[in-house]
Amino acid sequence: MTETPLSGAVALVTGASSGIGAATARSLAARGAAVALIARRRDRLDQLAAELTDDGRGAAVLEGDITDPEVASGAVQDTVDRLGRLDILINNAGIMLLGTALHTTTDQWDRMIALNVSALIHVTHAAVPYLIDAAATSPRRVADIVNVSSTAGRVARPASSVYNLTKFGLNGFTESLRQELLEERVRVSVIEPGTVDTELVDHLTDDLRDAVRRQVDGIDPLRPEDVADAITYIVTRPRRVSLNELLLRATDQTW
Ligand code: NDP
Repeated sequence: MTETPLSGAVALVTGASSGIGAATARSLAARGAAVALIARRRDRLDQLAAELTDDGRGAAVLEGDITDPEVASGAVQDTVDRLGRLDILINNAGIMLLGTALHTTTDQWDRMIALNVSALIHVTHAAVPYLIDAAATSPRRVADIVNVSSTAGRVARPASSVYNLTKFGLNGFTESLRQELLEERVRVSVIEPGTVDTELVDHLTDDLRDAVRRQVDGIDPLRPEDVADAITYIVTRPRRVSLNELLLRATDQTW
């Protein structure tokens, strides 16, 4: 018999059009969740939603740029309007625009803060009341936020200062929120993947992309499915178990 521990649950995944977000949406849907997908590339989301609905699961496409605060809070409202509730929020959308202070622009830094920090807190702020409600009324009697941080949330490296700032900050945000919401049975977790084979580095200049590739040369990187698997593990624990922090590196990765 197929195990469907998330049957009846509704998840919202930010940055669901590629990489870790798309893999997580698939994984949660395979456990029975209906999934709302938000990102800017509508064609990718439509394709994924068609795949999920073909498998008999509910899915909703919410195209948008969540650095717009109205889109961020609207994504939560649309999830509830279209899928009926919100049990699980996966704060995954993020960008990594590497570059040293001397050679990068503050525009690049602002873009990372806008997505990795501001968009994430706006989505979260809108989601909290619905998650509290889900934890009180759903069959699971628990709700979840999983924040996708990084090893860059624990280890600082050159040319990564503002990416480090966003991910170190996310770890603190997660722990504070965890303490605030534990009585309501909304679990708040952070996952810190190491190097994962996704499109994340596609946004870098050629030079920086080459530098990153040299750094990870010889490493068998994590696949998006590996991270999705870990996220799914977090949200399918019994309600008494809160897996607060999960550091997940490629086995060959030293930093
Ligand atoms: P991808 O580039 O594949 O995924 C990023 C996702 O974010 C895409 O779906 C993208 O969709 C979405 N996104 C970007 N900008 C916006 C926006 N303004 N509004 C809405 N969605 C947006 O990379 P990953 O899967 O690797 O990244 C996912 C998360 O994992 C990030 O937070 C990243 O920091 C983290 N991470 C990644 C690691 C890696 O090595 N790859 C390691 C550790 C952490 P679209 O362009 O369609 O909007």
